[in-house]
Amino acid sequence: MKLGLFGGTFDPVHLGHLLLAERCREELDLDEVRFLPAASNPLKENGPVADGKQRCEMAQFAISGHPQFKVDRREVKRGGPSYAVDTLAEIAAENPGAELFFLMGADALADLPDWKEPQRVLELATVVAVNRGDDTAVVPAALNLGNASQVRFVAMPACDYSATDLRRRAGAGMSLRYRTPAAVIAYLYDKNLYRADEGA
Ligand code: ATP
Repeated sequence: MKLGLFGGTFDPVHLGHLLLAERCREELDLDEVRFLPAASNPLKENGPVADGKQRCEMAQFAISGHPQFKVDRREVKRGGPSYAVDTLAEIAAENPGAELFFLMGADALADLPDWKEPQRVLELATVVAVNRGDDTAVVPAALNLGNASQVRFVAMPACDYSATDLRRRAGAGMSLRYRTPAAVIAYLYDKNLYRADEGA
């Protein structure tokens, strides 16, 4: 069993996230990809705008219909800062024999040396860094990799969407169409998320 794990704030989830997950599923022949919304990201200055339940619900709407995509709510339920190493250790213990792949944008790979126990992260999972378009990320020297196969690179088409931009657009009353699935747009309108008066 090859299990892909995709952590993020997903505030909100968008098509860049979905395409990254799908490219990794294809390229690495993953049996399942789990989206893992973080309670809060220890490396981000500001906390998420939408609460954990809302971000999980948006992710659930976004993956609807994909038989191999799942949302795992454990980090939101656990609360506090979400450390990948804790989540990976739990999932490894629950899935003996599964091969774990931890998916991230290549931009996030540069921060990996600053994570809690980065070497342990690399022992628990193969880190998969996804290059967008012409990006050519390399393994950060600070990781001191003994075994180069602990990091793999996958390419995807450039897709410049960001959750920050979606929040800004929602706040300005601009269109979100084709940036995130229609069900996510309907949800965030319904909940009045990211409106200008909520400080998005
Ligand atoms: P924000 O704009 O709020 O910082 P974000 O859009 O970068 O959010 P995150 O939830 O922080 O989204 O990102 C989760 C993961 O998705 C990270 O590994 C990040 O590199 C990756 N990612 C974000 N946007 C894209 C995109 N457009 N294409 C591919 N990967 C992306």
